[in-house]
Amino acid sequence: MIRIAVNGVAGQMGQVVRRHADDRDDVGVVLGISSGATAAVDVPVVPSGGRAAALESHAVDAVVDFSTHEALTALADDCAEAGVALVTGTTGLGADEQDTLDRASESVPVLHAPNFSRGIHALLGALTAALETLPGYDVEVLETHHNRKQDAPSGTAGRILETIAEVREFETVAGREGIQPREADEVGMLVRRAGDVRGEHEVLLADNAEVLTLTHRAEDRAVFAAGALDAAAWLVDREPGRYAFAELFEDG
Ligand code: NAD
Repeated sequence: MIRIAVNGVAGQMGQVVRRHADDRDDVGVVLGISSGATAAVDVPVVPSGGRAAALESHAVDAVVDFSTHEALTALADDCAEAGVALVTGTTGLGADEQDTLDRASESVPVLHAPNFSRGIHALLGALTAALETLPGYDVEVLETHHNRKQDAPSGTAGRILETIAEVREFETVAGREGIQPREADEVGMLVRRAGDVRGEHEVLLADNAEVLTLTHRAEDRAVFAAGALDAAAWLVDREPGRYAFAELFEDG
């Protein structure tokens, strides 16, 4: 059994990872790390200040992180110090935080993904095929998330824009207001925040005669927890380096 520590264990995703691991034989949560209240958590919990030592004393194999981008630098440093693999789904990372992950990856395996659902992975593949078949079609992206989400657009929307950029050049336009006619080489990026929506992404491709939409809707946060734990199980035996969620599927 792979021994997992959950960073951000009291958060929405952290709690789902904790619960989901109970249904699996290949992974087990042996430690939680939290900066806040932990009343509902039934594993040993340490504050982030005690993390590096706790990772070693609990013989942790991999950290699964869903916290906040400000927490990532210290987390990556602690994983490198303790020699523990790091899987992080935290979004909103800046260049400095990506650099920190690169630095940690010199001594431990590191996998960051803005979306751990297999459905989104399939959507990105379908999007590449659609763009190649439909050159010149207008493309617009819409994402919707719960009303507590901090970063916008979502990390997954960012991944969708990167996928489009692999096929064509464009300018991203964040919403539209007033007199703002659409230019041929732009992609509109539209963001909604409402209720407890787990995550919806839609890519619309259209010319004057037809419309194609690719839509993904996460209906339960367990889908992200499952993907992150799959990633942790896959990552622990790898050499130090940066890895992508897509590599799990290349391995079959
Ligand atoms: P949340 O606010 O419910 O939970 C975040 C938790 O992190 C909180 O409990 C907070 O106390 C804790 N935290 C903050 N600083 C910390 C630190 N220094 N050390 C340890 N814990 C710390 O948020 P959430 O909905 O669980 O989402 C967390 C992150 O995961 C967000 O960035 C979100 O966008 C991302 N997310 C990613 C995926 C994916 O598939 N990659 C899916 C859902 C959410």
